[in-house]
Amino acid sequence: MGLVPLAEARRHVLERCPPLAPISMPVGDALGCVTAAAVVCEERVPPFDNSAMDGFALRAADVTGAGPASPVVLRVVGTLHAGSSPDLAVGEGEAVRIMTGAPLPAGADAVVMVESTTELDRGGAVEVREAVPPGRNVRPAGDDLRPGEVVIEAGVEITPARVGVLATLGRETVEVHPRPRVGVLSTGDELVDGPGALGPGQIRDSNRPMLLALVRASGFAPVDLGRVPDDLGAIRAVLGSASRACDAVITSGGVSMGQADLVKVVLDEAGELRWMQVAIKPAKPFAFGTLARGGSGGVRVPVFGLPGNPVSSVVSFELLARPALRRMAGFPADQLDRPRVVAVADAPLPRRPDGKVHFVRVVCRYGEDGAYHVRSAGGQGSHQLGSLTGANALAVLPDGDGADSGDTVEVILLQP
Ligand code: AMP
Ligand code: MG
Repeated sequence: MGLVPLAEARRHVLERCPPLAPISMPVGDALGCVTAAAVVCEERVPPFDNSAMDGFALRAADVTGAGPASPVVLRVVGTLHAGSSPDLAVGEGEAVRIMTGAPLPAGADAVVMVESTTELDRGGAVEVREAVPPGRNVRPAGDDLRPGEVVIEAGVEITPARVGVLATLGRETVEVHPRPRVGVLSTGDELVDGPGALGPGQIRDSNRPMLLALVRASGFAPVDLGRVPDDLGAIRAVLGSASRACDAVITSGGVSMGQADLVKVVLDEAGELRWMQVAIKPAKPFAFGTLARGGSGGVRVPVFGLPGNPVSSVVSFELLARPALRRMAGFPADQLDRPRVVAVADAPLPRRPDGKVHFVRVVCRYGEDGAYHVRSAGGQGSHQLGSLTGANALAVLPDGDGADSGDTVEVILLQP
């Protein structure tokens, strides 16, 4: 079977993973979700002119000559706190004691900060030692947001700042694409869980907890589908119920060339199987199919059949599943992938020509010289999960002989 370029495999899955239909979600739940519609401001923020400082609201014209050697004394006619209603006015020669966020009283056009003043006459008057132009230390209504302004675009992630803006505007819900519910299933007769002694030929299932964690860390909603043996009926049954409970499914194991590789058989029964040998290492075998959800609407649930070797399953998730799931989550085409940077190899990253792009586990650091630097994180076998724990990036080594010390390489950052 010929090798399929990664870009072609990626295109195949992206085309079959359209964005999920938008819903109205409580703002408090929407962190990390992608907006499906622009949010347009309907009011002024701040809603009224207010003070940016603790100090005294006054008429700028009254203090034009004020300075350290020529203080001006004004009569203090009241106090305004944040939350006060501005039922005071400042006349000629007068000032109002004002706190940050309090509404500017009528007649005042500037605020002098408290540090440039001294109260006199038990607070009945104030000495001002600074001239302030009109508008100084005043935050005008609408200075932050104005009616008609698009404050959040469609197709952007809800960040903490955007939660803040929605709250400022009094919004309780926001139109977003829901987080894809992603089922994770491990397949393999050899797999067990937990601390018990291992029987002959058994290993513990690392992929399912790891892929569930990757799903969660990517901002999607993980659904634990458990673990099944290499048995057609068992795989069929779990995928059948998952097609109703999940928006997408990730399986590990059972997509290679072996006799017990049955995930691809079940996906073939469901139709639309594409079984590929992707031109990458690790993670060459990959199966992609879709399941009919049943009911009306003709929804098809994508299934990503990842290889069982633990590092392969992670690399396959990163390069093929995660971008497609981000598309389902509503991210635009230019935000589907992890960030890439160029880094200097501090030691050789050797490989041999084999027609594949290699993804090498590396430690990537931003150096004092203003460049990223990488070194291998350890053993590069696809079963060697240990070295992935120390890696924060994958170096992309195109087909060839790898990189020498001092060469630059492209690097995919797996952690911010
Ligand atoms: P497979 O893709 O099913 O041929 O499995 C390839 C290798 O990955 C075999 O050595 C399996 O034992 C191992 N493997 C498969 N699934 C898991 C899993 N969930 N956790 C850890 N290792 C696994
Ligand atoms: Mg297997």
